Order: sequence, then structure tokens, then C-alpha cells
Amino acid sequence: MATTNNYKKVVIFSAPSGSGKTTIVHHLLAKFPQLQFSISATTRPCRGQEVHGKDYHFLTVEEFHKKVNGGEFIEWEEVYTGRYYGTLKSELDRIWDAGGTVIFDVDVKGGVNIKKLLGNNALAIFVMPPSVEELRKRLESRQTDSTEDIEARVKLAEQEMTYSKYFDRIVVNNKLNDAIKEAEQLVEDWLKE
Ligand code: 5GP
Repeated sequence: MATTNNYKKVVIFSAPSGSGKTTIVHHLLAKFPQLQFSISATTRPCRGQEVHGKDYHFLTVEEFHKKVNGGEFIEWEEVYTGRYYGTLKSELDRIWDAGGTVIFDVDVKGGVNIKKLLGNNALAIFVMPPSVEELRKRLESRQTDSTEDIEARVKLAEQEMTYSKYFDRIVVNNKLNDAIKEAEQLVEDWLKE
């Protein structure tokens, strides 16, 4: 992997799950061709429309631990009990070797850790839901998670919101279109710098 003194620019998006972060990231990927998505590894099951090797590298817990022990991640977290997520070093190399700028969609702790590691090479953006109640409604209407999973996500979101202070910028996702515009402006300015 590239050494710390030749890290290139990255954009980090973190937020409590259900804040609209993934939708914003997809818009940015379509708008800025130089941005390339860091495909995380995870042990959670694949959801309906997701594709292995495009949305995530879906691994068994054994495969994931093997990669942890092999030092293949720049960061990893047990985001929910028994559900592991991590950023592979090989993803950064793949994107940087192709001349791209990495965009991460990671949990809040992962975002803080990548920001610490990459410092001024990283623009770290926290997407804030308008309220915890709104977040619960969004997770319910998404219909991708069980009631238990939704409760776990809401509980975690309350803790995660306290980490927003470690990010460079906060985008409040009250109206999705406004949040997308704001995120686009921040990224455009950052890519120009
Ligand atoms: P989901 O299961 O909804 O796709 O993702 C759950 C959470 O895990 C989201 O906040 C997502 O951003 C986060 N996540 C995805 N990939 C990674 C990763 O590589 N590292 C970390 N720390 N979190 C991740």
C-alpha cells in the first residue's frame, strides 16, 4: 500500500445508518467521474439489489478474520453485534493506481479512524439526520431491516451523532435534494483545491 507521505485525496462520508448518506454518495459518484467507491468487506448478508464485488465484498466471519489477521484492512469495525465491516488496503491501491479519488461510505468510528490516518488528505463529511424519530421512520420505510435491526440502528445512531465534532463538515439531511447540493458543492471545492 502507498506509504503515508504519498497518500492521495479521499472523501469520507459517515453518518448513522438511514441518514441518506448512501444515496448522497451514489449521486456524487455519478456527478464526479474521478470519484471511485471504496468497496468494503462485510459479514452481513447481501440485501436484495446488492451485488458482490460492487456494493460490498461479502465474506464469511472466518474469511473476514483471516484478512484481519493478515493485516489486510486499514480499518475495520464490528458495527453491529457479529456484523463486521472493513476497508481493505487493496481498495485504496486499486483506486489510486487508476488515478481516482477514493470515496468512502463508512460508519462513524471508521470515518474518524480514516480521517486520523489520512489527515489533511481527507475531507470528512458527517451526514446528520434531522432527528432520531425521522431516522426511525426512514429505516422503517426502507423495509430492508428487521424490527430488531431497526432498534439496534436507532440506538447506535444516538451515540454516533455525538461524534460529528470530529468531522470537517456536517451536512444535515433535512431535504434530500438540498443535502445532495450541499455535498456536491463541498466535494467540488475539495477536488479543486
Ligand atoms: P449497511 O449494512 O447499512 O450497508 O452498513 C452499515 C454501516 O456500516 C453503515 O454506516 C456503513 O457506512 C458502514 N460501513 C460500510 N462499510 C464500512 C467499512 O468498511 N468500515 C466501517 N467502519 N464501516 C463501514
